[in-house]
Formats: sequence, structure tokens, C-alpha cells
Amino acid sequence: MLPPEDSEKGRHLGTYEMLWDCKFCGAQGLPAHTHRFCPTCGSAQDPNTRRFPSDEEKRAVTDHVDKGVDLICAACGTTNSGDAKFCHQCGAPLENAEKAALVQDEVRAASESFQAGEQRDLATESMARDLKQSQAAPSGIPRGVVIGLIVAALACIGVIFLFTRTQSGTAVITGHTWEREILIESLVPQEQSAWCDSMPADAYSISSRSEQRDTRRIPDGEICSVRRVDNGDGTFSEREECEPRYREEPVYDDRCYFTVDRWGYSRSVVSNGDSQAVAPYWANAQLQFASGIGAEREAGRDETYLLILRGDNDAVYECEVNFDLWQNAALESAWKLEIGVVNGQPRCDTLAPAS
Ligand SMILES: [Zn+2]
Ligand SMILES: [Zn+2]
Repeated sequence: MLPPEDSEKGRHLGTYEMLWDCKFCGAQGLPAHTHRFCPTCGSAQDPNTRRFPSDEEKRAVTDHVDKGVDLICAACGTTNSGDAKFCHQCGAPLENAEKAALVQDEVRAASESFQAGEQRDLATESMARDLKQSQAAPSGIPRGVVIGLIVAALACIGVIFLFTRTQSGTAVITGHTWEREILIESLVPQEQSAWCDSMPADAYSISSRSEQRDTRRIPDGEICSVRRVDNGDGTFSEREECEPRYREEPVYDDRCYFTVDRWGYSRSVVSNGDSQAVAPYWANAQLQFASGIGAEREAGRDETYLLILRGDNDAVYECEVNFDLWQNAALESAWKLEIGVVNGQPRCDTLAPAS
């Protein structure tokens, strides 16, 4: 047998008496290892009543010899030490005797490295655990809720169906509008910052200062707790279990503040019209300068073509279309298209000449 120090994780602190309560006369807190029988009424100890003592009740067991978990005599119910072959009370063989049930481990926070806020309140923890379990217990979702959810889902589907439903309609082109936009960007000085080791090569007007870049974990003592383990023979062992504790420490580095010249949006040049009479054109961007601060360049183009239509009952629709369709859709020509039943909006992608 290994010495207790090496047998399990953690440092062995000592071996102590479990306590038990006599069910027959009500005697409380009897030492479980030394009193196999109630000193008041003589009843045999019931190992199921064993419990860990409070700190005031705790009594050390000196020269504890580990003989294993107690055996319970099937004939008379007396507890016998784990290595016994026959019941010391009635003499019955203990070959297939049941072992005493073990009390669940108890963990107590008992370390000075613990900060006040971290003190574990075992009672509250176990209460919270019990509460969680009772909440997790399958209570069954009420039938009404299930039906309600199904009805709500069907209603959603219905509303979506209603809103996407369309009916065929006809419309006449009453107008054309168009707009073309050229986006222009210019080279401008920008104030930026970056860690100095990743500053752009073209940065200028540079200043730097020390700032927190990271945190690192520094070993900082231990967090220790005491675990009480039922030995099953009326005693329990206390073991100190420790884990390293860390604190966070800031890591500083040089932060650079600088100016760089970068391209950024500066303006748009827009041309537009409201008929097919004049073909859509791009406005003259008149770019400034060629290089250096203030230089301009084109950054993209947008174009929008709208058809204005008059539908049944004089409803007015606007449809954004591609240039080819826009160009070929003559004024007063007739078209058919799908129109939303609920919102009355045209589905412009269904626009087609009325044949
Ligand atoms: Zn008793
Ligand atoms: Zn017996």
C-alpha cells in the first residue's frame, strides 16, 4: 500500500472520524470509526447515517490503518472492517458481504491565496445545482403552447404567401428618367496610427508613445481547496488540492501616430435626364491635377434607368430596368407585368411587351 501522500492527487492533511447518528435512541454525532455500536442504546451503527463533521466536531484518528471499506453483515447488519472474514457480532461469513456506501466527497475552500470574492459557498453551489437539475427535469411542454406555435407558424406562412402573391396587370409607359454618376477620389493626407513595427513605409510626421499592446499571464501563487474523501471505514481523509493561479499583466509597446497620403472618395459628377430624346451621357469629370496631394482619379461609375408606367385604375409604377430595355421601351407602348395583391407594387422583373 502506498503512503497516503502519494496515493492520490494532492497533499494528505490527516485522517479524521466520520460521525453517525443512532436511529433508535437519537444519539447524534457518534464517532463512526471507534463506535460501531451506540454507547447509549447498544444498536449497531448504520453506515448510511455517516456524515462529515463540522470543523468544531472534527476529531483526528491517529495511527489509522487502511483496511478498506467496511463490510456489512448480511445476517445481522453489523459493520465489520474491510479485511474481516467473519462477522465479529454473529460469526456469519462475510465473503459476499455488501460494502458500506460512501459519502460523496466534500470540497471546502481553505486557502489564503483565495480572494474574498472567490470564496466558494458550498451550500449555495449545491442549492444552485439542485435548482438547475429540477429545472432541467423534463416537465413536458404544455399542449396549448405547441398548438399556439403551430398556428403562429402557419399564420406567418400565410402572411408571406399573401404578400408575395401577384396578379397580372397591364401598363403604359408614360415617362423615362436616367442618371449617370462618376465617383471621384482624391489623394489626401490622413492621420493614422499603428504599432511602430507595422507602420506603412510612406508615413511622415511621425510621433510615438508607449501604449498597452497585450496582456501576459504571470504565475501568482496557488488556489487551494481541501477535499474530504470518505474512506468507508468510519474515517475520512482530508487532502489539499492546489492549482497554480495567474494574474494578468499589461505588455507595452510603441504606438506610432503619423500621416499618410491615401486615396479617398471626394466627389461625384452626376448627369441625368427625363426623356429618351437626348441619349444618356457621362458628364465631364474634369479631374484635378495628375499627382501629389489633391490629385484626383475616377473610382467607379453608376447608372440608373427608370421607366414610369401608368397601370389599371391610373396606378403609377416606377421600374428600374437595364439600359437596353429602357432604350427600347417607347412612350405610350403597352406592357404587361405582375402586381402585388396586397401592397400593389409592380414586380419589375416580370415586365414584358404586351403582344
Ligand atoms: Zn442509540
Ligand atoms: Zn453479523
